[in-house]
Amino acid sequence: MTIQFRTDAFINGEWRGSAQRFAVYNPANQQVIAEVPDLGAAETEEAIAAADAALPAWAAKTAKERAQVLRAWYELMMGDIDRLARLITMEGGKPLAEAKGEAAYGASFIEWFAEEAKRAYGRTIPSTTATRRYLTIKQPVGVCAAVTPWNFPMAMITRKAGPALAAGCTIVLKPPSQTPLTSLALAELSERAGLPAGVLNIVTTESASAVGKVMCESPLVKKFSFTGSTEIGKKLGAACVGSTVKRVSLELGGNAPLLVFADADLDQAVKGAVTSKFRNAGQTCVCANRILVEDAIYDAFSKKLAEAVSNLKVGDGQADGIEIGPLIDAKTIEKVERMVAEALASGATALTGGKKHDAGAQFYTPTVLANVTRDMRVNTEEIFGPVAPLIRFRSDDEAISIANDTPYGLAAYFFTKDVHRAWRVAERLQYGMVSINDGIFSNEVIPFGGIKESGLGREGGVEGLDEYLDVKFVNFGGFA
Ligand code: NAP
Repeated sequence: MTIQFRTDAFINGEWRGSAQRFAVYNPANQQVIAEVPDLGAAETEEAIAAADAALPAWAAKTAKERAQVLRAWYELMMGDIDRLARLITMEGGKPLAEAKGEAAYGASFIEWFAEEAKRAYGRTIPSTTATRRYLTIKQPVGVCAAVTPWNFPMAMITRKAGPALAAGCTIVLKPPSQTPLTSLALAELSERAGLPAGVLNIVTTESASAVGKVMCESPLVKKFSFTGSTEIGKKLGAACVGSTVKRVSLELGGNAPLLVFADADLDQAVKGAVTSKFRNAGQTCVCANRILVEDAIYDAFSKKLAEAVSNLKVGDGQADGIEIGPLIDAKTIEKVERMVAEALASGATALTGGKKHDAGAQFYTPTVLANVTRDMRVNTEEIFGPVAPLIRFRSDDEAISIANDTPYGLAAYFFTKDVHRAWRVAERLQYGMVSINDGIFSNEVIPFGGIKESGLGREGGVEGLDEYLDVKFVNFGGFA
């Protein structure tokens, strides 16, 4: 089935080509899907200038007026969900059912924030003196710039554009070089929804650092939002603060633990572990990276998990019933192979998988590794592949110690039926998000984000809007 999609960048309401273009590949078969413009610093400056020019009129609209345009954008996304899902699968590789889930999830941020911006309330503050009155108002921060990763080609864009535009900001987005086509489809739908020129701009590029530098250093940009690796996020965050002290949100890497206590419902825990670990072939920042299992049920849990994982259907995500698609590129699959080989050489054993898959060059067999120890890289580093390492623990203290022994703090999961343990463990886990007896939790109404080196700020929920609003304090003086 062929689908139509845009292949030019989108600046100031115009589709922008370029003599220099770069290829976008289908990770399932390494074929070129399209070529998109390789834009640079000059076009980024231009997009920022367009966003700056569009800002006063967009910010001056009421939240209700902006919500009407955003609602139309949301409806167009939902009406086009099959095409968006196909595009996500084609360039990102995730199975079609998951891509459809992402498209609905992505669209939900536009709906949610359009509504939420109507409730961007300030406060009145009881005065400290009879001669003054105090209040706060919330105002859009201004022109925003954002950089997003390939693992959610749609949702990572809307999770930033939704709150920014609803708050009255304008935005310049740099999509990932591996999955720019979905972002261009979103721009096309925004045009049809009636979003004014310059309010949303998409700068495609293969020169991320040149574009990123302009975004971080431009005095016109007042807020920078990044989702991606901790390594790059730290650099860009420092550049933003060091150059122009702009506001920064960072959604970075994770190393999520999933703890299974002896009193857990084993089938529920296995289901949760599979859902959490193997979503997008293990390539999400909130995927369980390592699974910690209490000694008494370690053997029973491992057996059940290995059986479930060995039944996962691997192949091109566009085919029916596929559960595990390809990894995004050769570098990612090499890293997974290396980490598994190191673990096996250090004493781990593969209960299932442990090698590449014959579906194609970038497919890896869903794997369960037993006898993993806490010093192994599969425990200390984000794997970003379909590999579940199992680590044995003997007490709650030991489980918490292994779980928290990482610079990351994005998501954690655990399974138990003991209500007091559930409270204690949720409180002790040093993570921004904790999920109990459930392997999946992301949606538009929750504050998504991490602590420690997993990031700054929150996306989604009421908190997600505040990231794009400045609080202004107003003092009324001179009362007699
Ligand atoms: P990445 O290498 O940091 O890339 C992310 C984005 O940053 C891409 O658009 C990339 O552009 C761009 N980029 C790279 N170097 C840059 C530079 N010097 N200046 C400006 N932009 C630059 O991350 P990734 O490996 O693609 O993505 C996976 C990582 O993202 C994982 O660590 C994952 O945990 C994290 N992630 C976090 C969340 C969250 O919400 N916390 C969500 C999803 C993913 P190119 O595409 O052109 O390289």
